[in-house]
Amino acid sequence: MSDAWTWADVQPERNFRPTFNTGLIKRPHGKSLSRFQGTPKAHGAIYRAQLAADHPAVNDGRTLFPSTVVAADKAPRILVSGKNAAKIGGEVRKGAWAGMPIFTLTLEERATCPSTCGLWRACYGNSMHLARRHQHGEPLERRLHTDLQSLARQYPRGFVVRLHVLGDFYSIDYAARWASWLSYIPALHVFGYTANPRRSTIGHIISHINARFSDRAKIRFSVAPDAPREKDQATTIWRDEQGHLPDAGLVCPMQEGRTLACATCGLCWAPAAAGHRIAFIGHGAIGGRK
Ligand code: SF4
Repeated sequence: MSDAWTWADVQPERNFRPTFNTGLIKRPHGKSLSRFQGTPKAHGAIYRAQLAADHPAVNDGRTLFPSTVVAADKAPRILVSGKNAAKIGGEVRKGAWAGMPIFTLTLEERATCPSTCGLWRACYGNSMHLARRHQHGEPLERRLHTDLQSLARQYPRGFVVRLHVLGDFYSIDYAARWASWLSYIPALHVFGYTANPRRSTIGHIISHINARFSDRAKIRFSVAPDAPREKDQATTIWRDEQGHLPDAGLVCPMQEGRTLACATCGLCWAPAAAGHRIAFIGHGAIGGRK
């Protein structure tokens, strides 16, 4: 199977655009913004695109692009080099993890996410028709088990996995497996974000991972911009009609053009930034990160 996806691969969902409508973020004077279809970017960042509430992908809890979901044991690789993602980068250039290669893991959005996610309908996966999603479950976990050990042999001085470009910790067992892999694979480093609430069982496991492997793991909890501040948080913010951003955390430097990629930044996993919330600017067409 090729890594390169084309429109032909997503043919069944090719006409997805008319299913978009705006999130109807209110203007300051209280009037809703008008509906747009097809070219949401043209309307600027005050719009937040999301799927209609009755869209099958929303109701069924699945990706908008089902043909991009591949069985973990059929995929050419499930941990993909960060070189393939301009926003991630192939090798860490800064901080304690400098020199380590980065790999990404992409699961199916919504199918693996808690339905309480604040961006359930506005998930940025809604615009990622080219991403290869790996089916979750036992085959995925078996493959991770072997592939992580293989990477540890290849990179004994350390390697980084970005969890999860799309998707989330989908079960208690799966989250516990990451804790286990971190405990017996010293070369493994991870960073990412989760929509699982901090005080859920999965959230407790993630907090345990952050605390026990504080020099090798940082999973930030995605919260609403106005949520009480706690450590290890991330949020998504949108510009208001005047183009202003709310003061909800440290804005991702890459989005402000101050760094090239996660590889040249490292703010999300830097111990000194643990007490700071990272804020991602939501884009009109994609709705931002979880
Ligand atoms: S703050 Fe830095 S590490 Fe975090 S997502 Fe942005 S570029 Fe990546």
